[in-house]
Amino acid sequence: MSERHSFRARWVVPGDSDPLEDGVVEIESGRITALHNRHDAAAEDLGNVALIPGLINAHTHLEFSDLSQPLAPAVPFTDWIRALVTYRRGRSHSASVDAIESGIFESERSGTVCLGEIATPATPSEAEDEPGCDLGQYSSPHSARPVVFLELLGLAADQHDRQLELARQHLDRPPLPGIRCGLSPHAPYSVRPPLYAALVNLAQTHRCPLAVHLAETRAELQLLREGTGPFADLLRDFGVWDPTAIPSGTRSMDYLRPLADVEHALVIHGNYLAADEIDFLAEHQNISVVYCPRTHAYFGHAEHPWRQMLERGVSLAIGTDGRGSNPDLSVWRELQFLRQRFQQVDPARLLDLGTICGARALGLDEELGTLSPGKSADMTMISLPDSDGHWRDVLFDPRSEVIGTLCRGMRIGE
Ligand SMILES: [Zn+2]
Repeated sequence: MSERHSFRARWVVPGDSDPLEDGVVEIESGRITALHNRHDAAAEDLGNVALIPGLINAHTHLEFSDLSQPLAPAVPFTDWIRALVTYRRGRSHSASVDAIESGIFESERSGTVCLGEIATPATPSEAEDEPGCDLGQYSSPHSARPVVFLELLGLAADQHDRQLELARQHLDRPPLPGIRCGLSPHAPYSVRPPLYAALVNLAQTHRCPLAVHLAETRAELQLLREGTGPFADLLRDFGVWDPTAIPSGTRSMDYLRPLADVEHALVIHGNYLAADEIDFLAEHQNISVVYCPRTHAYFGHAEHPWRQMLERGVSLAIGTDGRGSNPDLSVWRELQFLRQRFQQVDPARLLDLGTICGARALGLDEELGTLSPGKSADMTMISLPDSDGHWRDVLFDPRSEVIGTLCRGMRIGE
């Protein structure tokens, strides 16, 4: 594809330079070459829309994209996990493959150009000759680029070698265009500390991104601190509880410290991180917290410390999480949700959270996240209300909606 295109929009909001009213984006061979607001007879006029950098969903689980509503009950969280495990066990491998595909299409339709996807390894009977996850299901013709984090679970010591082997295989496979591989030791309650340490080490040596669910519930903190509470009960019921697995007095900080030398680490949720842990994150820009606003609200957690994190300079990105806890996969709706509840947050900051911050978290900010000459021409089109107004006033108007994506300059998902 070597053609040149140009698009005109009521507002072009590049993210890293001044927004242009009646702006034009020029594209050649799928890359942005220029932004301006001069006359350009060849430009395709998109009308009353804003062109923004393609939205980035830093955290999701596409395998649950076939759910028409979130799993219940949301509270207590351990009962939600029970519902999730039952759902996962009760369906076929092909149903989960179909759900992933529908999740990719849904993401594209809702303006997402890149996803931080947590993928479950296939069981040996499902995998036939390839263990781990099938990367082919994420590849072309889809245009939303995934970073595929392989989910690894193993609280029992005898899981260690098998999980580490799956992780190595995931990272050693021949690359597929547009797909990046990462590791996801699932959470402190499902991964034994030595396995966590080994996976962090592996991510470090492979310079691949790593994502871990951390400080999601108070029950998780209780399990780490004293080995009791709803998680101990859950793990006992699943037959994997080992009271010696986690040393008493463990804190989320014990999981954060090893991330200091991982190139790109993603702390998913971080709902109950303590002040010193937030300070640690502020000092380690390679670690991003991924806040999933509507999922957070679904579980009825205490208020998320995201504004405090922003003030302290912590890297923060936005995710939808999966449809197991969210009604859809739209990053735009996450931003609208925040806009409606936190009017004082600067719209430019909000837009960054859904674009460049996600790109940075996933290590793709040289390619995505802003409309800058040289970067991939991945843009999201937002329809604007008919009212007059500066982009700050109209972009996050409740009537503004994603109407499509221009991926490498081509229209997707309209
Ligand atoms: Zn998650």
